[in-house]
Order: sequence, then structure tokens, then C-alpha cells
Amino acid sequence: MADNTPPLRGGLGELKYAILFLWGCLSPSFAHAWSEHGMLTAEAISGVSEIQKVTSVPGESLAGFLQAEQDTLMKLLAAEEGWLRRHQSHYPKRPDALIFVPTDDADLLVKRFLRAIRVNPELQFQTPAAASAKDILIAASDEPDQGLDIGLFENNGTAFGKEYGFGKQPFGNPLLSYGSQAPFHMGFYNEAWLSYQLAGYLRRTYPEFRIHLFRTLSEFSFQKGHAYWGYRFAGWAIHYIQDFTQPYHSTVVPGIGSARLLWLGVLDLFGNNEPKADQVQLVTNRHLVLEKYEAEIVKEAVTAKNSKSILLQALREMSYDEDYGRYYDGYARAKVAFESNWFANDTDAILEKTFPAKWVSDPSYHFSITEPDIQVLPALKDLPADQKAEMEEFLANLMRHFGSHTRNFLKSVQSYFQNS
Ligand SMILES: [Zn+2]
Repeated sequence: MADNTPPLRGGLGELKYAILFLWGCLSPSFAHAWSEHGMLTAEAISGVSEIQKVTSVPGESLAGFLQAEQDTLMKLLAAEEGWLRRHQSHYPKRPDALIFVPTDDADLLVKRFLRAIRVNPELQFQTPAAASAKDILIAASDEPDQGLDIGLFENNGTAFGKEYGFGKQPFGNPLLSYGSQAPFHMGFYNEAWLSYQLAGYLRRTYPEFRIHLFRTLSEFSFQKGHAYWGYRFAGWAIHYIQDFTQPYHSTVVPGIGSARLLWLGVLDLFGNNEPKADQVQLVTNRHLVLEKYEAEIVKEAVTAKNSKSILLQALREMSYDEDYGRYYDGYARAKVAFESNWFANDTDAILEKTFPAKWVSDPSYHFSITEPDIQVLPALKDLPADQKAEMEEFLANLMRHFGSHTRNFLKSVQSYFQNS
């Protein structure tokens, strides 16, 4: 067997192997994104009158929507596939066997649709009798974290993963179910040139494809008079935009440059594995600390209805929205991920400074595993007030980005919103 394996002959070959291995091990860091998208979305859209005034949208089952529109939808999805192939450079083509074909069988129709858009076909999509536009958007913005993108790669051990054409999972552990959604919820567009040369799979991330597809479905639904699905698909799309505002989702290893990464890879190659493993664990811990902090502190403000909270104010703050210009097809990459990557090193530094060293600087500690029920806020109790305020202001800035990009995206489909 060894005879059939091309030997690694040192130089770039071995280096490449080392770096691949280093990045391949980053999977634990990819487990989550912002916690509680719905809670943040609710704040972000609370001042948008076009959404708030739509107080009752009749619910419609997915089967009902598909039965009414299947012929036009077949054309729409064919056109969408063409667009994605032309405009997304690393887009994995949808296999022809998955083309959406109309049928009179409602259950089969739903299955065919879910397979055509290549989401987890085992999910059930419940719909209420009626709901406000705001509530549909809030719930839908959390849905992509509830299984939509799980098990889609051929080595995830699912039957559909073998048929979907996404190939092998580009990074992370393919056997961790939540890890398998990571390539759909992260986008690395601002890494050093060398990183792409050594780890080309860093380009195999798919949130832009999801955003375009779900936005197209949203507009189509509004145009055809299915407001419920218009809002729901729009909510799905904003999830991926919101994920980009988390710096650990737009940057492979915040806080360390590619030269150091390379060095860790070299050490690893020569048998000194500890520095690499330690770095991976630190990134993971900081990623998780940020999300836990965000979830706890925003929830505290929401529960207390604290209108003075700078976090809630930041999520609602609309005065910067226009600075980003109007939404367009390259917006998520050029505006959202770019901005988030810009703040990645600062994010890493302030986490290191603010939180207990045990959590953010000790690789033998595994955040949320070593102490599963850990609470972040109590640990900051004795921190000097100015340092606490500095961390909160930093998060508020990220929340401001979250709010602006959420609204700018929704504004782009707003002309289709209906008064129901
Ligand atoms: Zn996500």
C-alpha cells in the first residue's frame, strides 16, 4: 500500500502537508456562530417601520407554496443554477439528477425542492396559521443553525450527502454533525496569498451561494404573492450575512499572521506537535468565549428591557447603514466579511486582555467542555469598570455591523414586501 502512496519529498510538499494538517485541526472552533440570531435580529429590525407595520401574514405550507408555483419555480431554479455557475468561482455544480421537476405528489414535491436547493431533506418545515413579518424574519434568521446545512458533504455519512455534489468536507471533522455546516457559515476571503496556495480548500466556503439562492427565492415568493415564504427565505439569507459579522467566521486564525502559522506547521512536521495543538485550542476557546459573552450580555439587556444598553442601541442604530451603500451581489464579501476580518486581530487581543487567562490563554483548558455549565458574566465581576466598558463597547461595535448589514440586506428585498 505504501508503494502506491506518493512520497512527500520535503520542501513545499511537506510544508503543505503540515499546513493542511494545522488548518484541518481547527474544526472545534467552527462549531457555532453568533448565538441566538433571532434575538439579535429582533433588535436590528425593531425600528424598521416597513417590517413592523406588517402585523399579520397568512401562513402557507411549503407543499402549498410549491404546488402553486412549481412550473415557474422549475424555470427560476434553472436560471439560478446558471447564475451561480457563472458568478461563483468555486461553486460546486448541482448534479442534474437533482433538477427540480414538478409532480402531483405533494410529499415528493417537497423532497424534490429540498434536494434541488441542496439543504438537509430530512427537516420538517412547520408553518403557523398567521404571523407578523417581524416574527417570521426573527425565527427564520435562526433556522440555518437548526440543521439546514448539516450532513451535506459526501463523507458526512448521509445518503443525500453522497448525491449533493459538494464533495468531501473541506475542513473540520466530517463526523461532527455541527462541524459539517461550517463551510456554509464561514467565508475566508481575506487570508494571505500563501494560505490559499498551501490550503486551497479555504476557498471552498459556500455562504455567498446560500445568500443568493435564498434571496432569489424570497423575491420570487413576494412577486408571486406568497409573502410568508418571501419573509422566511429572506430570514434564511440574512443568517449567513450575520454570520460574517463574527470575526472568527471571516478569518481562519485571528491574532496570528501566516508566517507564524507556517512556523507552527513546520514545528509540527518535525514532531513538535504541541505549539500547533495549543494554538488551535486557543483560537477555539476565544471563539467560544466571544459567543458566550455575546449571548449572555445581550440576553441580560433584552430580558431587563434595558433601553440604555449600548448593545441594544448598537443593534438598532441606523445612522451608519447608508455608509455601506446599497446592497449588491458582492456585498457580503466586500463589505461584511471584509469589515469583520479587519477587526479580527483586535477582537482576539481584547478577548485575551479581558477574560480570565484560564479561558483564553491556557490551551489545557477546553472552553465549555472543561466546565460545561460555565457562565461568563460572573467572572467579569471584579474587572475594573473601564475595562468592562471597553469590552462592551467593542462588542457593541460588532453588533452595530450586525444591525446595519441585516437592515441593508432586508432593504434590498423591501420593494417586494407586501402589506398583508
Ligand atoms: Zn450560522
